[in-house]
Amino acid sequence: MQFHYIGNAPVRSASERTLPVIDPSDGQPYDEIQRGDAADIDAAVRAARHCHEKVWSKLSAAERGRLLMRLAHKINEHADELASIEQRDCGKPTRQARADATALARYFEFYSGACDKLHGETLPYQEGYTVLTWREPHGVTGHIIPWNYPMQIFGRSVGGALAAGNVSVVKPSEDACLSLIRVAELATEAGFPAGAINIVTGYGHEVGDALARHPGVDHISFTGSPRVGTLIQQAAAERHCPVTLELGGKSPQIVFADANLDEALPVVINAIVQNAGQTCSAGSRLLVEQSLYEPLLDRLGNAFANLRVGPAAMDLDVGPLIRASQQQRVWDFLSDAQVANIPMVAQGQVVDEAPETGFYQAPTLLRDVPVTHRLAQEEVFGPVLAAMSFKDEDHAVELANATHFGLVAGIWTLDGSRMLRMARRVKSGQVFINNYGAGGGVELPFGGVKSSGYGREKGFEALYGFTTLKTVAIRHG
Ligand code: NAD
Repeated sequence: MQFHYIGNAPVRSASERTLPVIDPSDGQPYDEIQRGDAADIDAAVRAARHCHEKVWSKLSAAERGRLLMRLAHKINEHADELASIEQRDCGKPTRQARADATALARYFEFYSGACDKLHGETLPYQEGYTVLTWREPHGVTGHIIPWNYPMQIFGRSVGGALAAGNVSVVKPSEDACLSLIRVAELATEAGFPAGAINIVTGYGHEVGDALARHPGVDHISFTGSPRVGTLIQQAAAERHCPVTLELGGKSPQIVFADANLDEALPVVINAIVQNAGQTCSAGSRLLVEQSLYEPLLDRLGNAFANLRVGPAAMDLDVGPLIRASQQQRVWDFLSDAQVANIPMVAQGQVVDEAPETGFYQAPTLLRDVPVTHRLAQEEVFGPVLAAMSFKDEDHAVELANATHFGLVAGIWTLDGSRMLRMARRVKSGQVFINNYGAGGGVELPFGGVKSSGYGREKGFEALYGFTTLKTVAIRHG
């Protein structure tokens, strides 16, 4: 049985209700979490506020940095344990879960070093004045986290918030929260004061909604779907609470005829099959220059046919999807493709060892997907790649920008001028040229435009969002 983690202690839900934890590899329950509600959020916010006022705000930036570094060390020491928790909870193949644990530690290392480098400025003003700006923490920050990368998203969001001098109340996904409860325990061992990191588990419409509405929360960082992002904004708007939104994507990989295919193809494949395609920045649309379209699809089709899908512990190319409803969602997209006569180029194989009760989906490559079809417009959030061809640079830009999203874009070309022209014209928060970093790059500011959200996490830039600027004008004559 798992508990909320509030004020450095395991806590049962006020309602005493629980939810089952399901293993996506076999669809079977193996543990229970607390089903929290507004009463538990209230307890966590009070613990956080107390910590902020009495302890956290009194620490120097250097002391905060040391605590974050101690937590990074703890995470590294327990990386295998955290990876195995995440593997079972999320259905992540072993190497992917291990990489997430390493990334989590790296976020705390990065933000440890950033704590004492965040500062304001002295501004020129009228004669006889000195004007200063201070970067002040919001206070209590709320973090609502999805199930696809719990450790990584906790690291980037909570790591940045703590570094900037905030304390946190975290609402992980009801589908994947076990690793974060363990990280909160490790933070206690690392010396974090009670209330700096609080975890409340349960459903979004109960716990997440209560967190977004709580008057004691000074900033909300939400990572999840555009639909829920709208609800969070509406709740936060009631009390003018600032929000950072990290939402979905339909990111294009744009391959020109001069691209180095030996380098591009493994990256293009990884960008859609990593985490079974359940990645906000998955490269889920493949735009290929006409003259390269057929040869590229030939090679890509062969590679897709060889991809193997199975239980997370087998550590194959692809693990299961998170839950049955996600599997059904992917099936619905694929049956819409059939109805629209969208040709399937190739599909990987689900291995015989995969239990029938697990949530498996073979990676699927589709071609000639019309730009207006939902497969080219909406997040499938599964290992489905939608390919289409383009005539020239203008056409590539038109297709790349033809969705409501704008999270990441990949551009593959050896022409230096085209690289820069394309990078300027594509509407997205990140552009990768001759590489693709779905989820990668602790140091690199990350976030979207359009329906992919606003605000930036990761990198030093995140610290500006986790602080508010105070201007102090002193008239001294
Ligand atoms: P989701 O929006 O369903 O849930 C995200 C979180 O919000 C969960 O913790 C959930 O419990 C909570 N929630 C649900 N309803 C809520 C409500 N009414 N009020 C408050 N909280 C609520 O998303 P998901 O299915 O967990 O994750 C997949 C989505 O997340 C995809 O759209 C994906 O692109 C996006 N995502 C974005 C990023 C990014 O950095 N941009 C990263 C990962 C995932």
